[in-house]
Amino acid sequence: NTVIVWFRQELRVQDYDPLFWAASLGRVVPVFILSAEEHQRLSGTASGWWLHESLKELSAALGRLGAPLFLRQGEPGEVLEELAAGIGAREIYTSRSYEPDSQRMEDELTQRLGAIQLEVVWFHNRLLFEPGTIVNGAGEPYRVFTAFHRRLAQEQVYPPLPPPTALAPSPVQGDSLSLEELGLLKGPNWYGKLAAHWQPGEQGALRQLEEFAGEHVTGYAEGRDYPDSGCTSRLSPYLAWGNVSARRVWHVLREAGEALSSGIGRSGGADGCEADTGAFLRQLVWREFAYDQLVHFPHMVDSPMRKAYAAFPWADDPQALARWKAGQTGYPLVDAGMRELWETGMMHNRVRMVAASFLVKHLLLPWTEGAAWFRQTLVDADTANNAMGWQWVTGSGFDAAPYFRIFNPGAQSRRFDPEGSYIRRWVPELRQLPDALIHEPWKVASGVLDQCGLAPDSPYRKPVVDHAFARERALEAYRIMNTQ
Ligand code: FAD
Repeated sequence: NTVIVWFRQELRVQDYDPLFWAASLGRVVPVFILSAEEHQRLSGTASGWWLHESLKELSAALGRLGAPLFLRQGEPGEVLEELAAGIGAREIYTSRSYEPDSQRMEDELTQRLGAIQLEVVWFHNRLLFEPGTIVNGAGEPYRVFTAFHRRLAQEQVYPPLPPPTALAPSPVQGDSLSLEELGLLKGPNWYGKLAAHWQPGEQGALRQLEEFAGEHVTGYAEGRDYPDSGCTSRLSPYLAWGNVSARRVWHVLREAGEALSSGIGRSGGADGCEADTGAFLRQLVWREFAYDQLVHFPHMVDSPMRKAYAAFPWADDPQALARWKAGQTGYPLVDAGMRELWETGMMHNRVRMVAASFLVKHLLLPWTEGAAWFRQTLVDADTANNAMGWQWVTGSGFDAAPYFRIFNPGAQSRRFDPEGSYIRRWVPELRQLPDALIHEPWKVASGVLDQCGLAPDSPYRKPVVDHAFARERALEAYRIMNTQ
C-alpha cells in the first residue's frame, strides 16, 4: 500500500497525523504543492522566507527517515492525480486548512479525486480542536472570548503522537522541483536579515518550546505586556507554519506548570507558576477563537464583522501610510514597533496593538491597509489571528476594544517601556534622551533635543499628527459612522 502524504501548512514530521497514520500502513510519498495563488500571496514576503526555510528542513528530515519530499507547483488536484497515477497510490492523507475558499477547494478536490477512486483523508491538525465545532447552548458560534475559553476548558486535548522512526523507502525517484524553483524568495531581499533572528523549522520550534517551558514561562503573566521583557514564547511563526503542533505546545506547558508547581525545577512559587502557564494557555485559546471565528465568518478577512463599520469615513493619505510603515511617525513606541517588524519580521503583541491603533485611530487609515502590511512583513502572518487582531483594535470585531477607547501612545510607552529600553533598541536616534523624556520628545525644549543629538528635521520634534487633535478627529469619525 502506498499513501501520498500531502503537506500543506503543517511542516513537521513529529505529531502530524497524516504522516504518522500513513507510515503505519506502508510506503509513504510526501509531497508539497505550491499553487499559483499561494505563490502570488507568499513570494517575497517574510512568511514566504519562513516557508522556504521550513521546507528545506522538512525535506532533510524526511530524507533521513527514508522518504524524500517532492516539491511541485500547480493546481493541487492535477498534481495529486498525476502523482497517484504514476505510483499506483489509492489514498492521500493530508490536513485541513481553514482559509476562506479552502473549504470549497477541499470539497471539490475530494469529489474530483473520488471520481477516479482516489480517496482523500482529511485530518484536523492545525489547532487543539476542530474550528467551528465548539458552539454555545443555542448551537451558535461564540462571539465573546471569555465564554469560548470557559467552554474549551471543559474539553480534553489529545496527547501528541510518538515520532516516526523510519519510513518505508519511497517508490518515486527524482522528479522533484528544487526549492529555488518554487520561487518563494523572489522580490525585495529585505528578509535576508531575518536569519539573524530566527531558526525556522521543526528543530527551531522544539528548541524554542523547550527553552520557553523550561525557563522563560516564569514571569509570563506579569511580563508578557512589556516589549523588552523577553517574556513571551515567540512561538507564533512556528505555529503559523505548523513547525510544532498546538497540542504539543499545550501539553508541554501543562506539564511544565505542574512540574514547577510541585517544586521540581526552580523557585517562583506554585501560585505564580500556575498563573504563568495558565496565562500562556489562555493566549493559545485566542488562536482557537480566531480560527473559530474565521470558519463561521470568513468575510472577517477583509470586511468588518460589525456591519456599521462599513460606513466608517476612512482617510486616504498615502504619505501618512508610508511614514507608519517606515517607523517615522514621530511616536517613539509606534516607530520602535514598526522598525522591529521590518528588521525581524516580528512585533511584540502590546506594540502591535498600539501601532495598529495608531494607524486606524490617529491616522484614520483603513485597518485593511495595516493588515496587508502585516501579512507581507510578519514571519507569523496568519490569516485568522491577523484579521482578528486588526478587527479587535479597530472595534469592528465581535469581541473588540470599543472604537472610542483610544490608546495614548505616550502613556502606553511610559507604562510598558518605562525606561525606554525597547525604544532605544529600535530607534537609535533617541538613545541619548533621558528615560523621562524619551516617550514624547516633542514636548522637550529644542535645546535639550539638540544636546541629545536629535537632527533638526527629526519626526520626534514634530510628529505626523498631534495626539489631542487626532483623538477628537477619530471620535468625530466614529460619530459620523454611527449616524449613517
Ligand atoms: P505569546 O504571548 O507567547 O503567545 C503564545 C501563542 O498564543 C502565540 O504564539 C499565538 O499563537 C497565540 N496568541 C497570543 N496572542 C494572541 C492573540 N492576541 N490572538 C491570537 N493568538 C494569539 N498573531 C499571529 O500569530 N499572526 C498574526 O498575523 C497576528 N497579527 C496580529 C495583528 C494585530 C493587529 C494584533 C493586535 C495581534 C496579532 N497577532 C497575530 C496576535 C499576537 O500579537 C501574536 O500572536 C503574538 O504577539 C505572538 O508572539 P508570541 O508567540 O511571543 O506570543
